[in-house]
Amino acid sequence: MVCDAIISSALGPWPLALTPRYEFKLMTGIYIHIPFCKTKCPYCDFYSFTPSDTQKDSYLKAVLLCLSSYKDKVKDGVDTLYFGGGTPSYFGGERIKKVIEYVRENYNLTDAEITVECNPSSVDEELVRCLSEAGVNRISMGMQSAVDNERKALGRSSDRRQVENAIRLFKAHGIDNISLDLMLGVPYQTRESLKESLDFIISQNVKHISAYMLKIEEGTPYAEMSLPLPDEDEVCELYLYTSDYLEARGFEHYEISNFALKSFESRHNLKYWHTEEYIGIGPSAHSFFGGERFYYPRDFASFLENHAPVPDGKGGDEEEYVMLALRLKEGLTEKGFYERFGKSIPTEISERAKNFEKSGLLTVTEKGISLTKKGFLLSNNIIAELLY
Ligand code: SF4
Repeated sequence: MVCDAIISSALGPWPLALTPRYEFKLMTGIYIHIPFCKTKCPYCDFYSFTPSDTQKDSYLKAVLLCLSSYKDKVKDGVDTLYFGGGTPSYFGGERIKKVIEYVRENYNLTDAEITVECNPSSVDEELVRCLSEAGVNRISMGMQSAVDNERKALGRSSDRRQVENAIRLFKAHGIDNISLDLMLGVPYQTRESLKESLDFIISQNVKHISAYMLKIEEGTPYAEMSLPLPDEDEVCELYLYTSDYLEARGFEHYEISNFALKSFESRHNLKYWHTEEYIGIGPSAHSFFGGERFYYPRDFASFLENHAPVPDGKGGDEEEYVMLALRLKEGLTEKGFYERFGKSIPTEISERAKNFEKSGLLTVTEKGISLTKKGFLLSNNIIAELLY
C-alpha cells in the first residue's frame, strides 16, 4: 500500500561482485507482527484476521517462545522494538506489556525506541496506561484521512474525534512521540480534502507522518470495485503537495513516504533502509539477521505449532544496499557505501545517475547520489535503471 514501497528484488541478475560480510556494529531491532484486526479494511492485503481471546493468549505464548529462541544470538542488545500489524492495539495492553517485559528481561534493551501501531478505535484509557507503564515511547496511529467520506470509503469506523481523543490520552500519559498515517489517492480525495487532513494533522502537534499511496492489491474487495479514485497524475500532484505542505511546516521529507520533525525519524524503520539487522517475529514477519534473510509464513496455525523460519537467502549485498539507501533523502552516500563495502560507489551507477540528473530526478554530488522528490515518485524504475 506504499508508493513504490516494495522494491522488487527480482529485477534481474546483479552484475557487481558481492563483497565480504560487513561487521554489523549497531544493535538489533525487533519487530513483532500482531496478525489481528477487528474488521478487515477493503484495500488491505496484510496478514491479519479477527481472533478470539483464546487465540490472542495462544499467540502471546508463541511470541514469547519465539523470542526465547533468539535471545542468546543477539549479542549487542536491542535498541528498537516495534509492534506492527494488523492492529497491535487490538491485541490488548496487558499482552503487549508482557512481551515488552520479556524483551527487557532477556535482551539488553538499551535506550530503546518502543513503538506500537494503534487504531484509534481500539485506544482507551486502559490500553494507554498499560503501554505507558510498559515503557512504550512512540505511537504510530492509522488515521489515513481526517475527512469522513474518505474514511468511510476506506472502511474505517473511527472518526476524527476518536483520533483527537486517542492523541490526547497518549500525551496525558507522557507519550508524545506520535506518528500519524495518511493515505494519498483514496476515493473522493481532492487537493482541498487533502489539505483538510493535513491541517488536522498539524493541529495535533504530532512528530512524524507516514504518507502512503493507496495501492489496489489483487484479491482485496477494492480490486473488484469501481471506485471514484483520483487519476495517476492527480495522485502525483497530491504527493508533491503533501511534501511541500509538510516541509513548509518544519517536517523533513526524509524517506519516500515519511516525514519527521528533527530527531523524530523512525529509528526502527531507519534500520531497514540502512540495511541494518532486525528480527521479525510472527506470521508474515521478515528478518535480516546474521547476514541471512528469513521469514515466517503467513499462517497463524503453523506459527503456533512450529517456529522454524523459512530461509530467504543472503542479505545485505550491494544491490540491496543501493535499493534501500535510495529510498532516503540522504540517498546513497560515498561514506556509507565505503564503510559497508570498503570501496566507492561503482562507476557504472554514478554514470547512469548523471543521465537522470539532467531530467531533475536525481542529484549527483561528490558525497553521493540521491533522488529528488519527483524522483521519489519514479523510484522503482530509476533504481532498476541504475542497477542494470
Ligand atoms: S487495520 Fe490495518 S492491518 Fe487491519 S485490515 Fe485495516 S489496513 Fe489492514
